[in-house]
Amino acid sequence: MEFEWNAIARDIALDVEKAILPLFGTRKAGEVIGENASGDTTDYVDRVSEDIVLSRLEPLGVNVISEEIGTIDRGSDYTVLVDPVDGSYNFTAGIPVFAFSFAVFRGDKPVYGAIYEFLPKNFYEAIPGEGAFLNGRRIHVRKPERGKEALSFYTRGRYTGIIQRVKRVRVLGAIAVELSYLARGSLDGVIDVRNYVRPTDIAAGVLIARESGAIVTDERGGDLEVHLSATDRTNLIAVNDEYLLKIILEELENEP
Ligand code: MN
Ligand code: MN
Repeated sequence: MEFEWNAIARDIALDVEKAILPLFGTRKAGEVIGENASGDTTDYVDRVSEDIVLSRLEPLGVNVISEEIGTIDRGSDYTVLVDPVDGSYNFTAGIPVFAFSFAVFRGDKPVYGAIYEFLPKNFYEAIPGEGAFLNGRRIHVRKPERGKEALSFYTRGRYTGIIQRVKRVRVLGAIAVELSYLARGSLDGVIDVRNYVRPTDIAAGVLIARESGAIVTDERGGDLEVHLSATDRTNLIAVNDEYLLKIILEELENEP
């Protein structure tokens, strides 16, 4: 069976939007109502948004890997890795940086990725080999200007030498959004060395970044592999240029 992933992703994102925006910045959104597949708390907004996604995907008969519920294996060729709201802390705290992240794999190969940044209504997409798009228009990473680099950099105190080697550090709290910003040329890199992000957070963002020309690696500079798992944790380096990758890997090697 063939699927119109573009229309499916867009429809589900808009349904989620309708349900959650009235909760933006409210105490209700952040009520803890359970624990998710990787042992973090599930907040009310996570549950409401995931219930919508799961009920929309169920009739398609595809496998689903989602942040809260974990893996639903329906024996399909297709697996949808979804984070209904990436950045739920921001959502609850009233910080307008959060997004819907939706990636489709056939077997273990990505075939489609979408990120919907709710408040600016930005819809990012990528198809392997065909490129990355923002609201239907092709996007590309920018060429970094030396001495003017802007990175998103998540650390818990390791490799802070990186901070001294670039001009700006912006930590926005929603890696799906930050990878989209790299893809459209608003940031030069996104680095997370906390061994923290999961495939559901990054699967769509990695595809969109790569299709816009970014280099996406693990902490050793090897191609980052996104596994079909709800609980895997990984480090990630995504940059728009080789020289930035070199600087970052140097700093990682300096501090074993
Ligand atoms: Mn997330
Ligand atoms: Mn989430």
